[in-house]
Amino acid sequence: MRKPIIAGNWKMHMTIESGKAFVKEVAASLGDTEVEVVLCVPFTLIQPLSTAAEGTPVKIAAQNMHYEDFGAFTGEVSADMLKEVGATYVVIGHSERRQYFNETDETVNLKLKKAHASGLKPIVCCGETLEEREAGTTESVVKRQVEAAFEGISPELAAETVVAYEPVWAIGTGRTATAAQAQEVIAYIRSLVEAKYGDEVSEEMRIQYGGSVKPDNVEEIMNEVDIDGALVGGASLKPDSFLSLVNF
Ligand code: PEP
Repeated sequence: MRKPIIAGNWKMHMTIESGKAFVKEVAASLGDTEVEVVLCVPFTLIQPLSTAAEGTPVKIAAQNMHYEDFGAFTGEVSADMLKEVGATYVVIGHSERRQYFNETDETVNLKLKKAHASGLKPIVCCGETLEEREAGTTESVVKRQVEAAFEGISPELAAETVVAYEPVWAIGTGRTATAAQAQEVIAYIRSLVEAKYGDEVSEEMRIQYGGSVKPDNVEEIMNEVDIDGALVGGASLKPDSFLSLVNF
């Protein structure tokens, strides 16, 4: 049984104060949840929110990291630095990073290796653009992204990696992939993992869907057999909305 994982991606939103209040409110309502609850927050919120989340089921993630340990990389933050301030997870290769910050399949792979080496749990994103979907190349795009991301990653570490399938056309657009569309691509990703690593790893790996997930569509999405969670932007910014997602 794969443990469901619901992750809120706050992008460049929230403050230390509003973030701490959010964690307090959500943690107070979670009880003994069976769901893994993650908040992917801006760098400056990682330390205060990790402290606020201590003793609760809420885990804090970074939204990006550099693949080197240290050096002349102005503006960047390393995996060990994120660990030091309390991050448990890190998002790698979000489509906004690929689109606006030159993230490539190669840097995604380097970051995935470094995250594992540092003991951060990676959430690796993949997904096609609207043009790619309309051109019928969804599978080949996702195949390229997934194969490149996992190049040189051992089966043990692959099994501990979370993959987020996020069609770019569904992110922040209000246009959700249907549950069936999401299931189809996620089953395909699982088949790629099986081809590379075998049954056991593909059965163990958690794969999320992301793209305009909201309280009113989360249940349908989570009911799909291969979908183990959601990576959620807009609907993760309010505690009551985020709680409805966690309580799908
Ligand atoms: C995201 O940030 O990864 C995302 C899926 O955003 P939204 O839920 O707003 O589409």
